[in-house]
Amino acid sequence: MTPDAIRTDVAHSARMYDFLLGGKDNFEVDRQAVAQLLVASPQIRDLARDNRRFLRRAVRYLAGERGIRQFLDIGTGLPTSLNLHEVAQGVAPEAHVVYVDNDPLVLVHARALLASAPEGRTAYVEADLREPATILGAAELRDTLDLDRPIALSLLAILHFFTAEADPYGIVATLVDALPSGSALVISHATSDFLTEEMRRTAEIYQRQGIAGTARSHDEVLRFFDGLGLVDPGLVLVNDWRPDGESAPDAPRGIYGGVAFKP
Ligand code: SAH
Repeated sequence: MTPDAIRTDVAHSARMYDFLLGGKDNFEVDRQAVAQLLVASPQIRDLARDNRRFLRRAVRYLAGERGIRQFLDIGTGLPTSLNLHEVAQGVAPEAHVVYVDNDPLVLVHARALLASAPEGRTAYVEADLREPATILGAAELRDTLDLDRPIALSLLAILHFFTAEADPYGIVATLVDALPSGSALVISHATSDFLTEEMRRTAEIYQRQGIAGTARSHDEVLRFFDGLGLVDPGLVLVNDWRPDGESAPDAPRGIYGGVAFKP
């Protein structure tokens, strides 16, 4: 059964991404849009996989090497394996994680995101990144995260759905401003620096589905980290960010990733 809020006549980015990752939480309209994407850019499935691998390495690094115990993940997507809290709590079972997304289907499946380790906590907030104040003020967030202690804010594969008019730089700055010193910002973002034609066609297909999107250059993605200190190796293609045994050596070059700390 499908709740009324869930549109099965138009594609949604969360469901297209789920299908790309091999998930089952998607509809025919999403699968058809992905089929077009794969014609335009056969690399896109690898890019989705590499983006998830970046998430895992970045969160293990933050929880393991940097002692971060609180995570705020905006634009979470549908549950997959592994979810962010499973990675964080795999290192530190006491970690607290708040997930945020605005897709009604993600809300339906949020239970899978809330299966916290008993020592830790997870929460889900249905909200829009366009309204950072609403996210920061949400009761579930306030109950789960201590805004006086460092928090890792992750914005993974979401900011490229924000064109300039949506003021993505202002939104990120508002969120980072609300976090205490020692907090971290993790971003992954599509770029057209390399696969220029593929990325242009990809954006076009999303636009035809009514989903705005824009790939950004290295400098444009770097600007999101203004005033913060990027950790080594800086803002790089996700596969080059602290690679481990999982990293694919000749992966397609389509997504930048970086981790920075607030001084
Ligand atoms: N962060 C995950 C999923 C990326 S897919 C990952 O990197 O693996 C992008 C997600 O962002 C989708 O789940 C979509 O629903 C969500 N999203 C897009 N625009 C949003 C907005 N304005 N507010 C909140 N979530 C949004």
